[in-house]
Amino acid sequence: MNKDIYLTNNLKNKKEKFIPIHKEKIGMYVCGPTVYDNPHIGNARPLVIFDILFKVLKSKYGNSSVNYVRNITDVDDKIIKFAKDKKISISELTSNIIEDFNDDCKYLELDEPSQQPKATDHIDLMIEMISSLITKGFAYEKNNHVYFEINKFEDYGKLSNKKLEDLIAGSRVEVSKNKKNAQDFILWKPSSIEEPFWNSPWGKGRPGWHLECSAMSKKYLGATFDIHGGGIDLLFPHHENEIAQSRCANNTKSFSNYWIHNAFITMSNEKMAKSTGNILRIKDFKENIDGQVLKLALMSAHYKQPLDWNEKLLHDCQNTIQKWYEVYLPIDKKTSLNDDILSPLYDDLNTPGYIANLHQLYEKALKGNNNDKSLFVLACNFIGILSKTKEEWLSIKKKKLLISEEDILIKIELRNKAREDKDYMKADKIRMELLDKGVLIEDKDGKTIWKLK
Ligand SMILES: [Zn+2]
Repeated sequence: MNKDIYLTNNLKNKKEKFIPIHKEKIGMYVCGPTVYDNPHIGNARPLVIFDILFKVLKSKYGNSSVNYVRNITDVDDKIIKFAKDKKISISELTSNIIEDFNDDCKYLELDEPSQQPKATDHIDLMIEMISSLITKGFAYEKNNHVYFEINKFEDYGKLSNKKLEDLIAGSRVEVSKNKKNAQDFILWKPSSIEEPFWNSPWGKGRPGWHLECSAMSKKYLGATFDIHGGGIDLLFPHHENEIAQSRCANNTKSFSNYWIHNAFITMSNEKMAKSTGNILRIKDFKENIDGQVLKLALMSAHYKQPLDWNEKLLHDCQNTIQKWYEVYLPIDKKTSLNDDILSPLYDDLNTPGYIANLHQLYEKALKGNNNDKSLFVLACNFIGILSKTKEEWLSIKKKKLLISEEDILIKIELRNKAREDKDYMKADKIRMELLDKGVLIEDKDGKTIWKLK
């Protein structure tokens, strides 16, 4: 396939043709979860978006040519606080949440990243990087704290389009008597007795959060690599600080060549946030919704646009997948996807455009032959949809029924009784109740049968 990939690069604030440094060794780094609490659907959006980008890159350059690194932050103030509140050790909390996070990724049927490094396994590299920044004059130590001095790096603010004056005037920077300038950010801080610590030239302590991504991306992808991604909330200060640390420590003109950020998920057009209590955890969906339904919903808006989450969206996606399974056929190995079908994804990961293509392919498959059906299923599989067989899908649906089979039969009996009594309103009410729980009933040859909607 010769088609070019275009991506919106936040570093240039425009859509650009993707040109890799080495075609056979593409590096992509995405900021992963901070493992203090179960991931919510806001966390799932970048997981799904960058999974699609991973798939697109693999389709163009080959499976073994893409190195996708997604880190795990397992040392952080929130982790320390949560472990304390739950009265469990930090390692117990982080290993539980990592397990849940990996389960969530399996449920969403995401491709596994090439590497999933943990921050606590790379503290020595972070200490090395801080030492190098101090030696080169970009960082300073004061009272066991080490800070990055941002006015030593003239490109600071280029990614987020912020000027130093704005940072000082409007930002919520941490005030400290140890800092030379209010906007300098922390690289190393001392730990109190009950907090986790590592030995360093600046005393017992732990790294600032921004540093881990600079250290781990260098280890796995090198000092300059192709793509860095994450949620838009990470653009500033996290990604801005990563650039400053990495370019100064590594003495490079570029850290990541392309910066891709996904927009928020809103609920009733409000930002989803733990502080307002409107949080939907991925694990809460598992009981009633199949992962591919949730995934289709997460892809329904372009990654640069906010996605408003609501019951109707999920309901529509459930019906779409159900409808699509009606033409399901195992893929014929001779089938392949052409450029036209994939072109929306190559054009800045336009997932709504790709879903529109899928609807068209479905219509064709509905009227067409087995080749049309096979092509449709292959196109769905490309984004990790319909990868379960029809039998698996139906058995999952049965398991996820909101009502037991026994209760369905009781309801049918009650409905038939109501019909005999000519109480059609009651009969209809029971039929609607069952429909609401995903059960469709049909009267055929004097008998009532039920099936999954
Ligand atoms: Zn990061």
